[in-house]
Amino acid sequence: MNSAKYIWMNGEFKAWNDAQTHVLSHTLHYGNGVIEGTKAYKTAKGYAIFRLNDHTKRLKESAKMTLMDIPYSVEEMNQAQIELLRRNEFQGDNVYIRPFAFLGYGVMGVYHKNAPVETVMAAWEWGAYLGEEGMQKGIKLKIVSMTRPANTSNMGKAKATANYLNSQMAKYEAIDCGYEEALLLDDQGYVAEASGASFFMVKNGVLITPPNDNSLESITQKTVIEVAQNMGIKVERRRISREDVYVADEAFLTGTAAEITPVRIIDAREIGCGARGEMTEKLQSTYFDIVFGRNKEYEHYLTYI
Ligand code: PMP
Repeated sequence: MNSAKYIWMNGEFKAWNDAQTHVLSHTLHYGNGVIEGTKAYKTAKGYAIFRLNDHTKRLKESAKMTLMDIPYSVEEMNQAQIELLRRNEFQGDNVYIRPFAFLGYGVMGVYHKNAPVETVMAAWEWGAYLGEEGMQKGIKLKIVSMTRPANTSNMGKAKATANYLNSQMAKYEAIDCGYEEALLLDDQGYVAEASGASFFMVKNGVLITPPNDNSLESITQKTVIEVAQNMGIKVERRRISREDVYVADEAFLTGTAAEITPVRIIDAREIGCGARGEMTEKLQSTYFDIVFGRNKEYEHYLTYI
């Protein structure tokens, strides 16, 4: 991975290599940590962070769900991210920001109430999550054997590190089978989400994406729904079965890192024409116009540093 000059840790800027933790940190053993994935793009007026407040608020809410008390307000953490980008003096087109909180050193055993909460904001330059070629031509997606855990035994709406064991196993299986990304069903057999992105499909001109009953409340998914509706596209949020997916006219994944990535094949079936679809391309180019500050209508989602 790329590195940068500084990482913000517990209120201080530290040199990249000095932001360390003890090997007996609680989260390393029991998996209670919360993360965000936020992105800044180099606009004509310098870097702008996309939907900064929404991401930081989700971090705070994930922590509340998993009973971690982050000792900083959303506003303080927003400011830390702005300052982090300023100090790091990035050059590239875009920067990925990873705010997170984890339980540090000092307590062993599952009961975590007395474990210290460590808060960190890191940022680095990161290329296209599913590859440059995937952004143009589409990727191969596999519905994997791993399903999202039932809501009775998991908190899928928390962006919690523990949830990514499920994602990791799913992604590994997909890649091992020659695909590029995993699509997970929920415990009822309906589409939940990809290992690190949300799922959309197009059928007869209608854009369809599942509700967040068993998936992260995605910020990009929300953005794409808003943008599509403003373009006059009919959007349905409903459960999607495996069969629906196979006969979709178009499909794509969305996420802060995945942005809008077209899907060309799902489980050996070509989707539509087996390339990036027309509506996908339109939404993709609009999304890039928005994040790069070229669309005035969505300027309120940008925080210029
Ligand atoms: N689902 C999962 C499991 C994810 O990790 C992500 C990436 N954060 C998403 C969906 C997309 O969320 P967002 O659009 O808020 O980045």
